[in-house]
Amino acid sequence: MSTCLVTGGAGFLGSHLCDELLRRGHRVICVDNLETGSLANIEHIRNPEFTWLQLDIVEPYFVDEPVDFVYHLASPASPIDYLRIPLHTLKVGSYGTHHTLGLAKKHRARFLIASTSEVYGDPQVHPQPESYWGHVNPIGPRGVYDEAKRYAEALTMAYHRAQGVDTAIMRIFNTYGPRMRPHDGRAIPTFLRQALSSKPITVFGEGAQTRSFCYVDDLIRGMIALAESGEHDPVNIGNPDEFTLLELAQTVIEVTGSSSEIVFEALPTDDPQVRRPDITRAKELLGWEPAIALREGLERTIEAAGADVLVGAGR
Ligand code: NAD
Repeated sequence: MSTCLVTGGAGFLGSHLCDELLRRGHRVICVDNLETGSLANIEHIRNPEFTWLQLDIVEPYFVDEPVDFVYHLASPASPIDYLRIPLHTLKVGSYGTHHTLGLAKKHRARFLIASTSEVYGDPQVHPQPESYWGHVNPIGPRGVYDEAKRYAEALTMAYHRAQGVDTAIMRIFNTYGPRMRPHDGRAIPTFLRQALSSKPITVFGEGAQTRSFCYVDDLIRGMIALAESGEHDPVNIGNPDEFTLLELAQTVIEVTGSSSEIVFEALPTDDPQVRRPDITRAKELLGWEPAIALREGLERTIEAAGADVLVGAGR
């Protein structure tokens, strides 16, 4: 049994990670300040091997007991959040990552950072391999998130090279599943909320921009595989099946049996036109690839979360 510290453990991905680590018999210390996460995501956990600490990792923090793995997920992740708290987003990526890497160093723990496909910006290479350095607007409104993550990756490699910390960098592509917040502004929870409440589905631009959507269970399996490998260089984890936003809206309408119409709204600033992971490295290094297709993942999300939660009732 290993002891795993999960920052951002009360968030969407973090809470699923806590569940899976506990299911595999590990001890879990969950750290979160509830800025964008919620106790509702972890209140079902009754396991004595689970500890919850309400902490803001922008301030230095310490853990008394030995730690074997540090999963660093804490960060606002949705545009709605990082546009609301831009300075906090930069501080979590910088100070928060410093403090968490320092903790991993002290405990001689394996450290994994949840980075993002946003480090590729509006990519000029398609699909995106890890060797692509990206095309990011540092001064646009999204720059606070993209550059915080790019800085956090640089910091991670510096702690690895200069301080000998055993690090991993996971570049996560769009992921969805139960416990996403209905109003977090990302495409799948928004479309599901609109479809299930028979409201118009709002597609940005002409809906021709593409995304790839990974179901959360696949992603968490890839995250643990990467943490338990010896790899230090970045690894993309995401589903390479690519859809236009219009195709996604139509699929959501079909899966929900909704009568919603599709309406079009202005594109947000610096919205990437394409997004699709090249997962060759994940396949070769980790033997990982996603198993759950979009339609099945949407059905699982609706079944696990319940339609009333997805439309935002009671949350
Ligand atoms: P989320 O907002 O649900 O979870 C983030 C968690 O971090 C929240 O529980 C929040 O309260 C916590 N947090 C934020 N600031 C903190 C601080 N200063 N101290 C302690 N806790 C803090 O988002 P998510 O979708 O679960 O994303 C988790 C991680 O994965 C993020 O680092 C995000 O950048 C990355 N990621 C997610 C996706 C995705 O599709 N979900 C894609 C790419 C990268």
